[in-house]
Amino acid sequence: YEATKKEERVSFYTGSMQEERAARLVLEHDLKKAIEQGELFIEYQPQLDLQQGAISSAEALVRWRHPKRGLIAPLDFIPLAEESGLIVPIGKWVLETACTETVRWQKKHRKPMRVAVNLSIGQLYEKDFSRFVKQTLEKTGLAPAHLQLEITESMTMNTKLIVPALQELKALGVTIAVDDFGTGYSSISYLKDFPIDYLKIDRSFIRNILDNPDDEALVKMILSMAKHLKLKVVAEGIETPEQLDYLFHNDCEKIQGYFISRPLPYEALEADYQAIQQFADEQLNRLKMTK
Ligand code: C2E
Ligand code: MG
Ligand code: MG
Ligand code: MG
Repeated sequence: YEATKKEERVSFYTGSMQEERAARLVLEHDLKKAIEQGELFIEYQPQLDLQQGAISSAEALVRWRHPKRGLIAPLDFIPLAEESGLIVPIGKWVLETACTETVRWQKKHRKPMRVAVNLSIGQLYEKDFSRFVKQTLEKTGLAPAHLQLEITESMTMNTKLIVPALQELKALGVTIAVDDFGTGYSSISYLKDFPIDYLKIDRSFIRNILDNPDDEALVKMILSMAKHLKLKVVAEGIETPEQLDYLFHNDCEKIQGYFISRPLPYEALEADYQAIQQFADEQLNRLKMTK
């Protein structure tokens, strides 16, 4: 399979093709050791459920603290991990860590919390992937309903391979979301074959939702289509109160974005959770007065 976001990030490697190749090899070599050296960690971005008014889920986003280069964002190493196959051990580490930390959070706060974990398509194609998910849920004690798996919409989705893989996962009781919806695929016909629960509207449609009628039309179309297909919608990249207002009044189920909270390391999620929920309460109270 092809790494989907590769093209967008070549700017990370400046210089000649040769230098670029050498830099990639060094980074790949470092990445091989990153797990055992404890250099990876997860940040959690809270999601606000607009119907329940609760922060009841969070997306797990991996980060790499490189000993020399400092913090490296996922788009600067996930494509490399996908090309080299390192995504398989990295993906396992992320899933296991996210489940473990979510259980710890639930025990501490005595509240349910669902965690959404991003998958690369290559992980889904691994033999026994659903068995690994099942074992991880059992080992960590996370309820299947508290795990959501996000697959990124892309040209490389092969229906024949993906549908059975997703069905096995669904049978465990986990939920499935399609990430970056609207950006990666030429046809939406897969929506009727894939056993999915959520569509995540890509942030590129949300950014100008209030001043670009085309973006607004697309978002409205996605919300209406999702309703007819009985799918729920998460809107990504909410940065302003106006964007929140818009999605609230157009019956979007969940939102995620810097306006509610940036992604936070586990300790910060524990410490700040109440303040984030309180901020969300204030916003929703304001919105309900205008509904
Ligand atoms: P994604 O799954 O679409 O995740 C959302 C991205 O949008 C995150 O970037 C998040 O920090 C960012 N974001 C959230 N709210 C806002 C906002 O209001 N404004 C802006 N400008 N950005 C916002 P991040 O953490 O850099 O992750 C980038 C991508 O890397 C993710 O996109 C996902 O595709 C991938 N990724 C992250 N963690 C993993 C992982 O564990 N496994 C795999 N396979 N991919 C991962
Ligand atoms: Mg995602
Ligand atoms: Mg993604
Ligand atoms: Mg996304």
